[in-house]
Amino acid sequence: MIVMKFGGTSVQDAQAINRVAAIVRERLKEKPVVVVSALAKITDQLLTMASAAGTGHRDQALELSRSARERHYNTAVDLLGTHAFEQIAPELDADFNSLDELLRGVVAVGELTARTTDTIAGFGERVSSKIAAAAFSQRGIQAAHVDSRRCIVTDDNFSKAVPQFDETNARLADLVKPLLDGNRVPVMGGFIGATRQGIPTTLGRGGSDFSAAIVGAGLNATRIEIWTDVDGMMTTDPNLCPQARRIKTISFEEAAELAYFGAKVLHPATLLPAIQKNIPVLILNSRNPACEGTRITATAPKSKNIFKAIAAKRRITVVDIVATRMLMAHGFLKSIFEVFANHRCPVDMVSTSEVSVSVTVDSNESIAAIAADLGKLADVKYDGRKAIVCLVGENIRNTPGIAAKVFGAIPDVNIQMISQGASEINISFVIDESDVPQVISRLHQAFFTDVDPAVFA
Ligand code: ADP
Ligand code: ASP
Ligand code: MG
Repeated sequence: MIVMKFGGTSVQDAQAINRVAAIVRERLKEKPVVVVSALAKITDQLLTMASAAGTGHRDQALELSRSARERHYNTAVDLLGTHAFEQIAPELDADFNSLDELLRGVVAVGELTARTTDTIAGFGERVSSKIAAAAFSQRGIQAAHVDSRRCIVTDDNFSKAVPQFDETNARLADLVKPLLDGNRVPVMGGFIGATRQGIPTTLGRGGSDFSAAIVGAGLNATRIEIWTDVDGMMTTDPNLCPQARRIKTISFEEAAELAYFGAKVLHPATLLPAIQKNIPVLILNSRNPACEGTRITATAPKSKNIFKAIAAKRRITVVDIVATRMLMAHGFLKSIFEVFANHRCPVDMVSTSEVSVSVTVDSNESIAAIAADLGKLADVKYDGRKAIVCLVGENIRNTPGIAAKVFGAIPDVNIQMISQGASEINISFVIDESDVPQVISRLHQAFFTDVDPAVFA
C-alpha cells in the first residue's frame, strides 16, 4: 500500500479536490490511503474563532464559524451537486453545530483551555476528509471515510500531542487494513488524533505530513507521497527566492535537517517513522502531477555541489546568559539546561565560553518565565527577532574551508552565533530576522547558480 497526503492548498476548493480525485485514481492499483489537510487557511480561521470566543467576542467567533461552514458547504455542493450533497449534509451540519456549541460554551465559561483549543483546531480536517471521501465516491473511487481520532492515539500534550505508536499501529491494523483488503480507499484527516480516552488532540501546525508518515509506517507502506503546491523540495523556499531549483533526490538525514530548520514543505517529525521503516517519501505537486518531484530515501547519490539546500527558521529567540561568578565552576551548564527542561522548552543551538552561554529557542510564551528562572543563576538577556539560517548537505563532511566560503558570500552581515559540526551535514548561524531575505538570496546565488544536473532539476 501507499499513503497519499494532500495539503491545504491541494484541497482548497472544489477544483483542487477534483484534481486530487484524478491523482488518486491513477494510483488505485497501489492501494492508497489518502490523508487530507483542512482546506487552506481553515485551521488559522478555527484558531482565530477559538481565541475570539476565549476573549468573549461571541459574535465574531460565530461569524467566523458561519463563514467556514458556508465555504465547506459551497465546496461540497460544487463537488457533489445538490443531491449527493444532501446525503452528507447531516454529518457536516452536526460537525458545524457542535463547533458553534463549543464556541458558545467557551464564551459562557470565559475560558479557553488547551484541550478545547485542540478540539476546535481539529474541525478542519474532520470535515475536509468527509467532503473528500464523498467526492471520491461520487467519481467512482470506492472511498471510505475513517475518523482519525479513532486511529491516531496520542498523549494529552495538547497542540503538540505525541503519537503512541504501538496503540496507533494496532488501531490502524484493526480499522484501516481491512478496508484496504476490501479494495476500498480509506480517507482520513491529517493533523488530528485523540488520547486513549478519546479526547481530541492535534499533532502541531503542519502536522498532516506527520499523520501521513505515522499511517505509512503503521501499515508498512512502500511509499509515502506528500502532495503540495510546489514541485518538490527546493534548494530554498521558492516563495523567498524564485531562482530555487528542485532537488531530485535527497537523503532522510538532509531532508530532516531542512525540515527542522524551517523548510515548511515538510513537518519536522515526518521523517522519523519513515526512517524507522525505511519507507521512501516523495514530495509532489498536485497542480503539476507530471513532475517527478523530490525523492527522499536513506541514501542519496553524491552531488558535485557542497550543499543540497538552504533553510531559514524565523521567530527565534536568542538567550544570552552571563555569569562571571561561574568562572571555573562546574555544573553551570547543567543548571542552565535544567531550567529549559523544566519549562519543556527545546534548545536548538548553543554556543559557550567559560562564563557565558548563548542558546536559541523557538519564540514562545514561556520565555519570560524561563528568563526569570535563569536570572536566579546569572545575568540574562533575550531577543526574539532572530532567525537561524541553515545550509545542509552531506558533502560538508569532506569539504575543507566551508565556513570561509559561506561567510565570504555575506561578509557585511552581522552573524551572532555559528554552529557547525554537531550533525556533520549542516552549518547554521543566527542573524537578525530582517536580514533573512537578502542572506538567503545571496547564499543561493553563491552556491546554486551552477548545479549538478544529476541531483538538481
Ligand atoms: P501544504 O499545505 O501542502 O502542507 P505547506 O505550505 O505546508 O504546504 O508547504 C509548502 C510550502 O513550503 C511551499 O509553498 C513553500 O513556500 C514552502 N517551502 C519552504 N521551504 C521550502 C523548500 N526548501 N522547498 C519547497 N518548499 C518550501
Ligand atoms: N491544517 C493543519 C495546519 O494548518 C495541518 C496541516 O495542514 O498539515 O497546521
Ligand atoms: Mg504543510
